[in-house]
Amino acid sequence: MRGFIMLEWKLDYNIATIIISVMLLAWYLHQKKIPLSSYVFFLKFNLSVLACTIIESIGVTLFKSGIIGEFGFNVFMAFYSFIACLITVIYACFVFEYMHVSDKNKKFLKIFLYIILSITMIIDAATPFTKIGFYFYNNEYAIGKFGGLYALLSGVAVVTGIAVIIVKRKQIPASRVYILIASIVFSTLMFVVQLKFTISILCFGYIIVCLTLYNYIFNPALYIDNLTQLYNKDCMREYLEYRLERNKQFSIILVAMDDFKYINKTYGVDIGDNLLVQVGNYLRGVDGVDEVFGYGSDQFGVVCNKISVEDAKLLAGIIEERFKHPWYSESAAGVMMSSSTCCFECPKDADNYGNLVEIMDYAMSMAKKTNKGGISVAGEMDLTKMRSEKEIEKAVKLAIDRDELMVYYQPIFSVEKNIYNSAEALVRLNDEKLGWISPEVFIPIAEKNGLIISLGDQILRSVCKFIRDNKLSESSIEYIEVNISPVQLQQPEYYKKVIDILEEYEVKPSQINIEITETANMVGGSDIVNENIKKIVEYGITLSLDDYGSGYSNLDYINHMPFHIIKIDKYIVWDAFENIKAGITLEYTIRMLNALNYMIVAEGVETREQKEHLAEIGCHYMQGWYYSKAVAEDEFMQVIKKIPDRIEQMN
Ligand code: C2E
Ligand code: MG
Ligand code: MG
Repeated sequence: MRGFIMLEWKLDYNIATIIISVMLLAWYLHQKKIPLSSYVFFLKFNLSVLACTIIESIGVTLFKSGIIGEFGFNVFMAFYSFIACLITVIYACFVFEYMHVSDKNKKFLKIFLYIILSITMIIDAATPFTKIGFYFYNNEYAIGKFGGLYALLSGVAVVTGIAVIIVKRKQIPASRVYILIASIVFSTLMFVVQLKFTISILCFGYIIVCLTLYNYIFNPALYIDNLTQLYNKDCMREYLEYRLERNKQFSIILVAMDDFKYINKTYGVDIGDNLLVQVGNYLRGVDGVDEVFGYGSDQFGVVCNKISVEDAKLLAGIIEERFKHPWYSESAAGVMMSSSTCCFECPKDADNYGNLVEIMDYAMSMAKKTNKGGISVAGEMDLTKMRSEKEIEKAVKLAIDRDELMVYYQPIFSVEKNIYNSAEALVRLNDEKLGWISPEVFIPIAEKNGLIISLGDQILRSVCKFIRDNKLSESSIEYIEVNISPVQLQQPEYYKKVIDILEEYEVKPSQINIEITETANMVGGSDIVNENIKKIVEYGITLSLDDYGSGYSNLDYINHMPFHIIKIDKYIVWDAFENIKAGITLEYTIRMLNALNYMIVAEGVETREQKEHLAEIGCHYMQGWYYSKAVAEDEFMQVIKKIPDRIEQMN
């Protein structure tokens, strides 16, 4: 088939491409080398674009000036079109690397691409002689018999790249997915423009892609900490992910400065920064260390590739020794600092980055508590607690996602009215693998990782739905007490969420009572907590102080917080029957609370004797197994119908 396109062969875009390419290479090479494999692809990509542009420019110049003829020019063009296809393959290979395609799949995809590349290479090599591909003839650009196949094969490489990006899109931030796809679409567009409008613009398109990738993905500033010039945590993640995916063995020594905030306070932030730079530089220079990463503001991850954890321990000893001597900065002579170090061995201690970070954080916080300033080895530490916490965290997450949390109700008995007048909602979790997990175990874990927020919302919804569906307003139950964690109250405008949920289920505020436990962080409460409490009470929801008498009992607290009910902690109740002093304290506490006009609920009432004595000393509301344990909704509706007098006779 004879061609129809006449390229003008102006070299303006080629010159611009060469300038940008050289500039990018200069930026790239003058920066510290980034130890990530995808960076090698970036370099190859840039170099191929440069080579492709130079070959095209030389060919055109020689041909235009008559130094070479049509055949010579077609040889140049064969090289040009081969490298143009190679660039597509390099980009696709980079995508496989960057998107964490497994080694097995990567091998398969690469073989597929190399086959494509080989076929195009054969077409390119044959074209000057046989005119089967793209060639130049009689001052026109022509497409030979296999020109269509050539374009098709390049297209397949492009589609493979896009498919991998789409399938693996969850592996990287969405903004980067868009950039990778946009880059492919843009260069394809440039290819079409080149063919259609007779402008030699393809390489210019490639170098613009290169520039964009440099800016958003390969910019060393994204991976190097400005202050210490060490690789940052993002870089550490990609570096270690690469090593862990390939099951390569290595050791990490985590070096954490002890009480660094005091150094900042004592000497000022500038000197503090300078000292961190010095520690970073020192660590980089230690023999046997391969890479040093900044891990957190005053922690360093020291990676040693070819040593066992035993050798890592020896290295940690050398580092520890250095910390026995002062550090000098321009304006502070002889600052003594201490560091805690912890050694890890991969993949033995952790076989993926997520687990590794969990272990590093946990082991370091344990090391700081039990072996501050010393050397710890993760493999020798007891990490079972952390592992079981993680299992429980998973179970809670799963239950939240599947809406499988259950809420049980424990009735509260009014001695004066001789009825169950209220109940406490208590969450229950039954995991497939772990079985029943006590809220005393999983609530603190959910508080630590923030899951308590969605868990708490689900519980409140479930309680409101229960009140509405069972028409509790028509029963003796006036309100349900719901436990709210201090973490929930720390959310700005949490009260709005509470009001919205109540309104959604048409529950009156007087039908809900919120229980708050006294904890260290509640005493003196933050502005957000105080605002939430104020607005909740203004709305008409009453407040209980839970577990009174244990933990952070603070008289000032009950005097200044708008509590309606005080719930005496079950351990205080039990102790009062075992210990004379505790009995007296409880009696006077109840007297004081009555004088202050609080409703008093005793928790943990397990026997008739306890119930009678508590009623005698002025406690009029009882909660405990003597009456009923916390039970599921249906059972609860049966329990509250029973006349408590009868229960007493039964007991
Ligand atoms: P809490 O709020 O003080 O709840 C009372 C606990 O005492 C409940 O334990 C209840 O089952 C138990 N209890 C009541 N009467 C007796 C008795 O006579 N004998 C004995 N041995 N125990 C009795 P549970 O359900 O295991 O809950 C433990 C804690 O977990 C609760 O203490 C509360 O702090 C927390 N919790 C439970 N449900 C929730 C919830 O929905 N949200 C939040 N934030 N915390 C909850
Ligand atoms: Mg409670
Ligand atoms: Mg309690």
